[in-house]
Amino acid sequence: LKKIKDGLTKTRNNLLEKISNLFSTTKIIDENFFANLEEILITADVGVDMTNMIISGLKERLKKESIDDTRTIFSFLKDELSKILNSVHTFQNPEPFAIPEGVKPFVIMIVGVNGVGKTTTIGKLAYNYKSRGKKVLIGAADTFRAAANEQLEIWAERAGVDIIQQQKGADPGAVAFDTLKSALARNIDVVLIDTAGRLHTKTNLMEELKKIKKVMQKVIPDAPHEVWLVLDATTGQNAIQQARYFTQAVGVTGLIITKLDGTAKGGVLFAIVNELKIPVKFIGVGEGIDDLQPFDPDAFIDAILE
Ligand code: GDP
Repeated sequence: LKKIKDGLTKTRNNLLEKISNLFSTTKIIDENFFANLEEILITADVGVDMTNMIISGLKERLKKESIDDTRTIFSFLKDELSKILNSVHTFQNPEPFAIPEGVKPFVIMIVGVNGVGKTTTIGKLAYNYKSRGKKVLIGAADTFRAAANEQLEIWAERAGVDIIQQQKGADPGAVAFDTLKSALARNIDVVLIDTAGRLHTKTNLMEELKKIKKVMQKVIPDAPHEVWLVLDATTGQNAIQQARYFTQAVGVTGLIITKLDGTAKGGVLFAIVNELKIPVKFIGVGEGIDDLQPFDPDAFIDAILE
């Protein structure tokens, strides 16, 4: 929890300070109080819909319980946030790096727009699985960016795992195909497939991702077992727009929200979850190899509001 708290310092300072001020200066809970609360939440990128839900949930509860003690109301606010996150995270595996029974190799396809932290996240994931005694193989199916491949190679080395690559411009599907074949032959536990994320050719990219998926299924019929979308928290509402494209094209099963340490607007995580109804698997709270944290809804709320 300390690591998460530290990573969320900017958001915490922003949100907690303003909310504490509001609650400590409030004498009567009236429309003015709610207007102020609304403004604070929207400024933290919580999103208009989500903010409205929170405020109306709070009002509803206060109508029933007629409480004017601000400490209790503050705990109601946390309950509202918790309700929304937990409604999407009910089936979250208690051990985030667990591999489903009988699945070998466990194939995870990683998607996302360039710059969001995809390469770094793959390195962090590889490191985490490897540290838990798993054999990991990375497939470099972003054959579009030569620099991305070099970076990925560095991360693979850092994590101490192997990587399957081909020359720049090679068919991404072929790389994914080779990676899965190789994973079967080498008794690999976890396969991480990197993919391209060039946004300026959106349609082509989505077709490419669909094709990679199809080609993988020629080797392992139910692969990929997971498709995780990496989103950059510092891009705010843009992240939601990106997520819509990827969700429609490849059926995203989980989110990884990066750079939460780099923003005071970590509230965007609520907006993303509320909008997409896709569980957050991990959060990125730094550039280091162990700066990937499993996402726990209530720990997240505590980290920014306690
Ligand atoms: P890609 O283009 O999506 O593969 O992005 P990269 O993995 O190359 O990351 C882009 C930049 O974001 C790099 O400078 C990373 O160090 C940085 N980055 C990635 N994840 C995080 C994070 O959780 N926190 C911070 N502060 N920086 C991150």
